[in-house]
Amino acid sequence: MLSSYVSSLMAIFELVCEGHIAGFCALCAIQKHVSRALKSTGRILAPNDLVSNLRCISRNFRNSRQEDAHEYMVNLLESMHKCCLPSGVPSESPRAYEKSLVHKIFGGRLRSQVKCLQCSYCSNTFDPFLDLSLEIVKADSLLKALKNFTTAELLDGGERQYQCLRCKQKVRAIKQLTVYNAPHVLTIHLKRFQALNLGQKIDRKVEFGPTIDMKPFVSGSNEGYLKYTLYGVLVHRGWSTHSGHYYCF
Ligand SMILES: [Zn+2]
Ligand SMILES: [Zn+2]
Repeated sequence: MLSSYVSSLMAIFELVCEGHIAGFCALCAIQKHVSRALKSTGRILAPNDLVSNLRCISRNFRNSRQEDAHEYMVNLLESMHKCCLPSGVPSESPRAYEKSLVHKIFGGRLRSQVKCLQCSYCSNTFDPFLDLSLEIVKADSLLKALKNFTTAELLDGGERQYQCLRCKQKVRAIKQLTVYNAPHVLTIHLKRFQALNLGQKIDRKVEFGPTIDMKPFVSGSNEGYLKYTLYGVLVHRGWSTHSGHYYCF
């Protein structure tokens, strides 16, 4: 889902690859592929460079074997992210997220907040993300899935009771996950697999519209980027999560 995909791609074109080490560079490979795709509308393009260097994107991938599209996307973005960092910047540092073209386009931040019900102190932790992975077991629409994702949860008792950082007591608390900084281009992944039964696909219908307003799910002060227009959908077709086909529209 995205608001300004074309201008984002233009940003990639203007970029001079900084991490271009000897051998395969995921950023340059995608740059070349997108450039070819835009010039040859309607023709079939084989992403040969990306296929023949699959192992550079992730060591776990094998050619001619069925792989997971979301895992591929995560690894491809990670490779591209590493390629666009100035040398000496660790790929998981705040500076890297700030400098990285990949994070500038697809990156957002999640806030996990725990609020003490005794003294009202809020403890916040922030985590960068490149896509949102949503559970759909209890959701028949994208909005419901996002609602569930950001629903406040009561941490109530038991041995793992929450200890408040301010009042130093074991207290009842409320935990809530929200999007703190919304990305320019939002990617949402619907989890059609179950943790307990990995092969079993959740084949339920999840409704979504051509636009989405992320405002109800965002806690930070983002201006201008909260309404997204759907750009593309990638669909897995098949009975099990171990095999099948992908198509997109
Ligand atoms: Zn490069
Ligand atoms: Zn407290």
